[in-house]
This record gives sequence, C-alpha cells and structure tokens, in this order.
Amino acid sequence: MVTAHITHLVGHSSWEGTSERTSEIFNPATGEVIATLDLASKDLVDEIVAKAAEAAKTWGAISIAKRTRVLFKFRELLEERKGEIAKTIVREHGKTYPDAIGEINRGLEVVEFACGAGHILKGGYSENVSTNIDAYSILQPLGVVGVISPFNFPAMVPLWFVPVAIATGNAVIIKPSEKDPSATMEIADLWREAGLPDGVMNVVHGDAEAVNALLDNPTVKSISFVGSTPIARHVYERGVAAGKRVQALGGAKNHMLVLPDADLDLAADAAVNAGFGAAGERCMAISVLLAVDSIADELIGKITERMATLKTGEGMGEGIDMGPLVTKAHLDKVRGYVDAGEAAGAELVVDGRQGDWVGGTKEGFFLLPTLFDKVTKDMSIYTDEIFGPVLSVVRIKSYDEGLELINSNEFGNGTTIFTNDGGAARRFQHEVQVGMVGINVPIPTPMAYYSFGGWKNSLFGDTHAHGMEGIHFFTKTKAVTSRWLDPSHGGLNLGFPQND
Ligand code: NAD
Repeated sequence: MVTAHITHLVGHSSWEGTSERTSEIFNPATGEVIATLDLASKDLVDEIVAKAAEAAKTWGAISIAKRTRVLFKFRELLEERKGEIAKTIVREHGKTYPDAIGEINRGLEVVEFACGAGHILKGGYSENVSTNIDAYSILQPLGVVGVISPFNFPAMVPLWFVPVAIATGNAVIIKPSEKDPSATMEIADLWREAGLPDGVMNVVHGDAEAVNALLDNPTVKSISFVGSTPIARHVYERGVAAGKRVQALGGAKNHMLVLPDADLDLAADAAVNAGFGAAGERCMAISVLLAVDSIADELIGKITERMATLKTGEGMGEGIDMGPLVTKAHLDKVRGYVDAGEAAGAELVVDGRQGDWVGGTKEGFFLLPTLFDKVTKDMSIYTDEIFGPVLSVVRIKSYDEGLELINSNEFGNGTTIFTNDGGAARRFQHEVQVGMVGINVPIPTPMAYYSFGGWKNSLFGDTHAHGMEGIHFFTKTKAVTSRWLDPSHGGLNLGFPQND
C-alpha cells in the first residue's frame, strides 16, 4: 500500500529538506499505516520562527479591515470544504463523520467570533483626564505565537486559537498532534486561499523536540497548548521560564451528578452521549456518574438499555455512533483500565472488550462502550483520566457527598448536574470548583464568545481560550496619554503627574 508523506508548511510552501526523523500515522479502523510524517529538529523550528517573525511585522501593521476580509473569506472556504476535512479527520482520528463535522462547526463559531475583530479590538478613550490631556488604550499583536494541539480535536482545538491570533495581527506557528496532523494542513491551505500573506501561518510537525524548541525560542511570544496534564504542566513551566505568555489546557475527569428529582430519561441520554461520544476521547466527556442511591438502579437500567442500541464501527459507516480509539497504544492503555477496574472489584455491567464492530478490520483499535457500577474512589478507573469509552458509576448518599467528590478531584475541566430543583442547581453552580458547568446539559462547552477552559490541573496559566480572554491573550495593551498644544500649555513642574 502506498503511504502519503506529510511535511512542514513554511508559509505557503512545503518544506523541501530531508528529515532525519519521521513517525507513522495509522488508520485506527484498520490499524494500517497510512502516512509518514516529518519530525522537526530544533534548528528547523528556529528557522521557521525567524521567517514567521518577518511576516508578523507586515501582518501586524495591516488594517483591521483587510485582516477581517481574510477572515470572512476563510470562513466561507471552511464552510465549503468541511466535508473533505471531516473525512480526513475520520481517516486519521477514527471518530464518526457527523462528529467530525460537529467539531468543525464548533471551530467555525470561533472564526465567526474573530470576524468581529473590528469591534473587539476597540480600545478605551477618555477625554480630558487632566486639562487638555486625553488617555486611551490600544491593543497590539504579540508577534509570533505558538499553538500546540492534541489528537482528539484535530480541527476544533487549533481553531480555538488560530483565528483569534490572526485576527489580532499575529503570525502563527502551529504544531498539530503527530497522530492526526492532516486536518491542520488542509485548514492551513484554506488560509492561503483566503489571501493570508505568506509566512503568517506555518505548520511544524514534531514531538517533544519541536515543542521544546518553540518553548525556548525567544521570538515566540506566547504558547497556547492543549493536551494531557503532565505535558501541560511542563509546557507552562518551561514557557514561563523563557518569559512567554502561556495558556496550557490539560486533562480532565468530568463528573455528572444526578439528583433524585432529575428527569432520568434525560440524564440517561446525556450520560450515554457524553460518556461514549467520540469513544470518550473528549476533554469534556463524562467519565464519572455520581448517582444518588435511591435512583441509581433505575438510572443504570436506562443507561444499559441505551448502550445496547449503540453501533460501534468505522467512522464513515452509516448509522455508526462510535469509532475506534486513536492508536494501538491508547487502546491497550484503556483496556488496561477495564482490566484494572474488574480486578479492583467494580461491577462490570457492560463489558466493551466483548462484541463486534461494523466495518474496519479486526486489527482496528476498537473497544466497545463499557459501564462500571459500584466504583469507589480508590480505584484507578476513578482516579485516572482514561480517555476512552468507559463510564464509571459511583453511588452516593447525598448532594453534599457528590459535591465533595467533584471538588476534591485534581481536575476541574467540566461538570454537570441533573435535577429539577432550581435551588440545588443554583447552589451547585456557585459551589462547584470547576471551570465549565452544565445544568441538565451533557457537555457544557462554552460558545465562542465566552471562553473555554478548566480550573485546577485542567489549566495552567490564567487565560482561557477564545472569547475576550482569547483576545487579551493574543494582544498587548498599551496606554497612551496625549496632549495637543493649545495656547494655554506649558510651564515647568517637576512633580509626579497627577490631577489636582
Ligand atoms: P498529549 O499531551 O500527549 O499531546 C499534546 C501535544 O503535546 C501534542 O502536540 C504532542 O505532540 C505534544 N507532546 C507530547 N509529548 C510531549 C512531550 N514529552 N514534550 C512536549 N510535547 C509533547 O495529549 P493527547 O494525547 O494528544 O491529547 C489528549 C489529552 O488532551 C487528554 O488528556 C485530554 O483531556 C486533553 N485535552 C484537554 C482539553 C482541554 O480543553 N482541557 C481539550 C482537548 C484535549
């Protein structure tokens, strides 16, 4: 079988060198190698950064109107080509086609938000802060910014950052996941077609060497990272030590709390959708279901009925609900957690290691939806981020016990409560120590004009993605105080400027 070869994109051009190191990309549904990927050295990263710095100078000085026109054009192209890009995502990531379209649609919302750059980039203006003196603030680009993305949303996560960075006048170097980099390549080509000048958008492929080169290069002014918590922590610490702005979004262990007065059909739908959608490889996936004792049996019954209707298979297949896991190594890790949960004494209600899938081959990286009951907080299926189609039910006595479990967890990305009691829901939104909260909704992912990000070990740094926090992350604020001469000016005064 002929495999594709993927290399770096230096501005509008493919890199023409020969890489010393490469890696392989798999089709998760068949286990076959479908492409090889060049992995960048530190020297190559530095070379691309230097070129991006030249492009940043002109792009940062271009009028907002011209930048916005590129964004509008890019939005049209992305809308037009999303079907092709979604197929690429299915081929390399394994998720279903509708799910791949869904992530591009969520990315498009960030592009639409960034199309409002003219409005968003308005600074403040105060007339006569002192006699005949005006003060105002302006937002200026950082220069060259780095984006490092994970495998699970090959289109959406880059789109959380890149449109905002470009709208605010920066040049971007993105390092996509080495497991599924092609969506980023196709989207980069749309930027070229939309009229983005050469060098403003660059794609560098690689592993730790490329990431560390971006972190250490002083010309790269910020890093937006999304990935697992240990790497997020490393990226934050090394990037900050090198004097950069860093937003490093990490892992998650999202809990769903179901109170006795909840609509149990709605809660069961949500648990299945958020537990098994994208094979649990979503940072907002529900991994733990906290069920109050009195309704636990009924709720588990409803979840089990729904799970029996799910179809697992190759992501392009008709009516497929869930695809394979991304790599063989990840499949082995997730299966290892199922083995460990069983050995630790949790009740295996639905065993995803058994059963068939549709399409793909037997070498595909499939695990079917798995449900554990009577999970306790010392078990690894409870303590660790599994990132697979494994839902763990923990039975609790009360709201307070559920809240305590959520708040004592090391992660704080997303959570949701199911109840018909407005007072309980309101108390939850106030008391829970988590960055993104749902009330009777399964996956509380904020819209583009709000900001996305967790608390605790789910985010290092203080700035979330997109929304106004994204605009602030990619700009520096300058405060200007000005006086234009009039006949009353002048006079010596060695004191500190003040209003008296
Ligand atoms: P990962 O941490 O393995 O990789 C993320 C990025 O870091 C990739 O580009 C990878 O090449 C790079 N990388 C890997 N090892 C590195 C190292 N030693 N040094 C420097 N860089 C390195 O994560 P993943 O497996 O691609 O993605 C899944 C993880 O991402 C999960 O933990 C998930 O919760 C998290 N995630 C979080 C969010 C969020 O918003 N908080 C969103 C999506 C995914």
